[in-house]
Amino acid sequence: METFRFTITHRDPNSKARAGLLETPHGTVQTPVFMPVGTQGTVKGLTQDELEQLGVEILLANTYHLYLRPGTEVIRELGGLHRFMSWNRPILTDSGGYQVFSMSELRKLGEQGVEFRSHLDGSRHLLTPEGAVEIQATLGSDVMMVLDECTEFPAGRVATQKSMERTLRWAERCRRAWQSLPHCDSERPLGALFGIVQGGTDPDLRRQCAEQLVEMNLPGYAVGGLSLGEARPLTYELVSASEQFLPPDKPRYVMGVGLPEELPHYVALGVDMMDCVLPTRNGRNGLLFTSQGRLHIRQARFARDSRPPDESCRCPVCRRYSRAYLRHLFVANEMLGKILNSCHNVFFYLDTMRKIRQTIAAGSFSSFLSDFSGQLQGEVP
Ligand SMILES: [Zn+2]
Repeated sequence: METFRFTITHRDPNSKARAGLLETPHGTVQTPVFMPVGTQGTVKGLTQDELEQLGVEILLANTYHLYLRPGTEVIRELGGLHRFMSWNRPILTDSGGYQVFSMSELRKLGEQGVEFRSHLDGSRHLLTPEGAVEIQATLGSDVMMVLDECTEFPAGRVATQKSMERTLRWAERCRRAWQSLPHCDSERPLGALFGIVQGGTDPDLRRQCAEQLVEMNLPGYAVGGLSLGEARPLTYELVSASEQFLPPDKPRYVMGVGLPEELPHYVALGVDMMDCVLPTRNGRNGLLFTSQGRLHIRQARFARDSRPPDESCRCPVCRRYSRAYLRHLFVANEMLGKILNSCHNVFFYLDTMRKIRQTIAAGSFSSFLSDFSGQLQGEVP
């Protein structure tokens, strides 16, 4: 039984952009897609009902956090992550590696895996490639990620190469662990496993990593280790250096990007999937992304502004509330302010992706690409 399939429906003649359909055990996702991040099994500030109404087709959940709390066993007992969080659409999980590297109190890296102490209670854990796959399968993830070693930025070539080679060995162990799991459990089909291209800022190491991952014949591939502080043109170059060695008929995912104006640039490089905490994190901090640029809602100039945050936005917030009210909520530190800002921002990201998919299908993506990004970068007038 085929539970995972990627079909390209349209290609842009002037770039590598493509539109398609990603079929998963929990439904079909239109690509290119932006995935909101539900770190703890919740996209902060938004209910599952709201996510559905905003048109979220897939979200990301963080294995590290869910493994430590409430714990994989609790989620298994309650029927898997979809049932636990009452979300019946696709879920992508990361391997937990990135959070172990960035959040845990103590980590000791070895060939076997990474040993770490919980940031919650200091308890000791060992995350291995096999364990990362098993945890994600237990959660019931539709798209699982291999455990990779997150190369530090910046790093020298020798260190980057060593780290990339370990990522490849771990990817192979993940693949074996994934293949040994029952793929056709009638109740819960096993999700797909994606490899992750590492290689730091070295395009040649990126190529080597991509080529060797492709030999593992995985269902999809991600580009990781980006947006760590490098200049944006270099990020694009590294995506491009990885992408050109990945199979054209499989989905490509760039992890942890980006700003709204960057989304079409990644799509133009052939990227199908992206995720980022920016829409919700910025919403909580009072920054709204609009078609006219950034809007910092706390600014005094909005105190008597009866206009919606974005006059051309059709989201539930812009249809109903004024900048003045949102500013009041923010200044008064009311939780509704953070919720409404997050709602608008998630809609804005999804709406941008809708426009990207529509213009790819209509053959007008290149003019969208050149018009769109320039308008977004400054502050709203
Ligand atoms: Zn809006």
